[in-house]
Amino acid sequence: MKQDSTEEIDKITDEEKRRAKRRAMIRRKRKRQTYLARFLVFMIAILTLGGIFVAARHVVRVRTGDMTVLQTPVDTTIREILIPKKRVYICPEVIPALIRPNEYSRPGEELVQIKNIFVHYTANPGTSALQNRDYFDGLSESHITSASAHFIIGTEGEILQCLPMDEIAYAVKGRNYDSVSIECCYIDENGEFTEATRQSLVELCAYLIGKYDLTEYDLMRHYDEGGKLCPKYYVEHADEWKRLVNDVGAYISHNGTTSQPEEMTDSQIIETDAKTEEPMAETEETPAEPED
Ligand SMILES: [Zn+2]
Repeated sequence: MKQDSTEEIDKITDEEKRRAKRRAMIRRKRKRQTYLARFLVFMIAILTLGGIFVAARHVVRVRTGDMTVLQTPVDTTIREILIPKKRVYICPEVIPALIRPNEYSRPGEELVQIKNIFVHYTANPGTSALQNRDYFDGLSESHITSASAHFIIGTEGEILQCLPMDEIAYAVKGRNYDSVSIECCYIDENGEFTEATRQSLVELCAYLIGKYDLTEYDLMRHYDEGGKLCPKYYVEHADEWKRLVNDVGAYISHNGTTSQPEEMTDSQIIETDAKTEEPMAETEETPAEPED
């Protein structure tokens, strides 16, 4: 009888030991889970703070107008959310020099929308803006090729407008119906623009960006659409192209305003040419999307 009860006690003790072991295990497991949860919360907090810090840095850079670093589209998005968009309402001086309607350089087809501004070089060192304008115009007689651009900027910085803004140019294969093209003259064989040409280009692009609700990231080299070596210098010196884009952004942030000034001289840019509003004679053959 005594032995029986001893066995009974031993059994209970074993049972309790097992229970105690199980409880200890559960406690350890819970502890581990708590530590893991705390660690996760800590990591999330670190990542969130890091994200806020990075975003804040972008905003500060945008607000202070620090344009030393090319802004990313993320910067642009943050800027658009936080700061009303600045536009340059002052148009640089533009000389009207429309070319004659003809199927080789001015087909009179509607430019439906403007998504990008393409920058070109004339591939003809030392020629003037007027000479290049006359070349485009003369294609109506010479029929050498199909080519044109909306604007030509000369080496003195003069800007000639060859086409109204509602007509396509023959400038970038595949993009003629949704972009504007600017040709730039140059002197040096390496294709670098003169300071005057570059400055007029910056001012014209800044104005067009505001007018057509674009950003400086919508500026493109002809090269960016099809790989043509145009504009030569800015294809061979990608860093100089970035600097140019950056300068346009800086020009907008320094000279742009968030609302149109009350007193403003009319833009000299020709939107539409009244003369072409009368129906043009249908041409039987339309050149197949030439470039320049
Ligand atoms: Zn080109």
